[in-house]
Amino acid sequence: MKYKETPSQAADYLRQAVPLMVRNRIPPNPLNYALWYAYVSNQLPELNTALDSTLQTYGTCPNLLSEQLFRKHLVHDDSKDTEEIHNGLVNLVNTLHEQASAAWEQTDSYSAVLRESLDALTDCHATESDPLPLESIIRTLSLRTEAINDATRLFQQQIDAAQSEIAALKQELQQTRQDASVDVLTGLFNRRVFDTELEQLIQLGSLQKLSLILLDVDHFKRFNDTYGHLMGDKVLQYVGRILKDECCEPLIPVRFGGEEFAVIGPGLDDESAAEVAERLRKRVEAIRIRQKSSGSVISSITASFGITCLRAEDNLPTLIERADQALYQAKQQGRNRVCRNPDGQ
Ligand code: GH3
Ligand code: MG
Ligand code: MG
Repeated sequence: MKYKETPSQAADYLRQAVPLMVRNRIPPNPLNYALWYAYVSNQLPELNTALDSTLQTYGTCPNLLSEQLFRKHLVHDDSKDTEEIHNGLVNLVNTLHEQASAAWEQTDSYSAVLRESLDALTDCHATESDPLPLESIIRTLSLRTEAINDATRLFQQQIDAAQSEIAALKQELQQTRQDASVDVLTGLFNRRVFDTELEQLIQLGSLQKLSLILLDVDHFKRFNDTYGHLMGDKVLQYVGRILKDECCEPLIPVRFGGEEFAVIGPGLDDESAAEVAERLRKRVEAIRIRQKSSGSVISSITASFGITCLRAEDNLPTLIERADQALYQAKQQGRNRVCRNPDGQ
């Protein structure tokens, strides 16, 4: 996004953005300022629609979503938020600036030479005994032209190098981000994101409803022992894919750890969470994997599910603990089923 406003217009936007942020309990950090500044300036209708719907669902905009919206609409994944990468870019800009200055000095002195040469030509009146000093003027011009060509070529090389360095830094940044929040095997968010997001949602306290679904693959140790760990990994990848398919916004699917997954369901009541879990259960049950060595199809994959809803007195551990109890119940009752933790239990 480009900022073309006048200072008074910009100040006006900020005056509108701040009360909005306060009202919606948005933490006042630079990322959020940029996001809400863009919102009030109305320049990115898609961003406004996304923020409106997020506010409607959550009553605020959780950090993870703010960051996603910021990256999607304001910097298109170009944000440089790690210090190292930021420093790298600052250095690049400085180098380019120096090179640009050097090239500029060359150009400047070249113009001076051109001017001098022109003056010399204008002032000179050739006579037979004293012809115009054309040869020396041309020699000087030619030398200067070469010098400026060299400077320009060097500058061009610096720009090329800077461009590839920027591309490498961008990739590094994406990698860093991924490492911090994404599970490598399944591509789902990891436990760190789960804890942060859920903690934040619980603290909001404004959500009418919030469900938590825990999913645990049944007899997975036995599966690994029978078919091997690599085949086990494949199953986890399938389960991850099913979760991605079935859990669209505002649901947040994550790999909880090992063969356990979770779905955070903002705005989801007990009943709807059970429907989501039942859909997931059926799809896991339908997984068919062909064993390469024997050619036989494995069709014995199932998972058990535990569901609970947020209560006023909950904190992160109590909410997880209750979902875990429901999951335990599902295991006890024979696995491959969904159990809800009834209210008051
Ligand atoms: P239950 O039905 O009671 O959940 O039985 P289970 O065998 O699934 O549970 P248990 O906790 O005894 O074993 C979990 C197994 O999951 C053991 C571990 O080797 C396996 N596992 C955990 N993470 C991974 C992984 O990333 N890849 C593979 N292939 N296996 C994993
Ligand atoms: Mg387990
Ligand atoms: Mg298990």
